[in-house]
Amino acid sequence: MKNKYSNIETQLITAGEPEPRVMGAVGMPVFQSSTYEYSGEEEYHDIRYIRLNNTPNHIALTKKLTAIENGEAAMVTSSGMAAISTALLTVLNSGDHLLAQNILYGGTFDFISKDFKTYGIEFDFIDCDKPKEWKSKLKPNTKAIYCESITNPLMQVCDLKEVVSFAKENNIVSLIDNTFTSPVNFKPLQIGFDLSLHSCTKYMNGHNDIVAGAVIGKKELIEQFTHKLNLLGGTLDPHTCFLLHRGLKTLALRVRYQTKVP
Ligand SMILES: *Cc1c(COP(=O)(O)O)cnc(C)c1O
Repeated sequence: MKNKYSNIETQLITAGEPEPRVMGAVGMPVFQSSTYEYSGEEEYHDIRYIRLNNTPNHIALTKKLTAIENGEAAMVTSSGMAAISTALLTVLNSGDHLLAQNILYGGTFDFISKDFKTYGIEFDFIDCDKPKEWKSKLKPNTKAIYCESITNPLMQVCDLKEVVSFAKENNIVSLIDNTFTSPVNFKPLQIGFDLSLHSCTKYMNGHNDIVAGAVIGKKELIEQFTHKLNLLGGTLDPHTCFLLHRGLKTLALRVRYQTKVP
């Protein structure tokens, strides 16, 4: 994808917009069509169908999200929890082990602490203030480490560079929920995180009128994530894609204003 502009204000407006614009439309139109004419697709995941997350609205929106967090690819989901649960089930299989920050968004904390055992996935919580202790929690089957950039609602912040170097040293996948900072204030992929997750219900959309999620990261991981999402079905519908796309255009203006010291 062309990423001509480095400044986020301009990326939010221009990145991912179709070239040429659809019938000249400056606002991305809503493609309210569940299926599309067959055009030579050979793989199941390439069939053009809303649940397979590949409508023109998905394509434009995910290109914009990719640009603003400096990723290789992105996908959107029907809620933040759909992004989080699908990402965890993409990187972890039965028999694997996760290390997770001990303070997390409630839904995520419950999914890990209550539901993981039904999938046969093991976990341990780690104290963010004590990175020296993390190594002792590492197991031969540890596959990933999970944290939030600023936790909701307790506002704890881990040493995020330490999380990335721990993941790299131990060859495990690093995931971060970046909802609370938004890419205006922090871009996790730039410091080496593998997957950045969002509840787009919050700052990303900004108007309290949708529920949506996103994941941004390496191309290969996003492809695996999308295949899992295609089957679990937590798809964002084209009209909600449109609303999120529209909301994103003012993300930087809103977040800068919201986080400005008076
Ligand atoms: C709101 C929130 C979620 C869950 O998002 P939904 O869109 O409600 O599913 C996950 N993580 C954080 C940090 C949140 O604030």
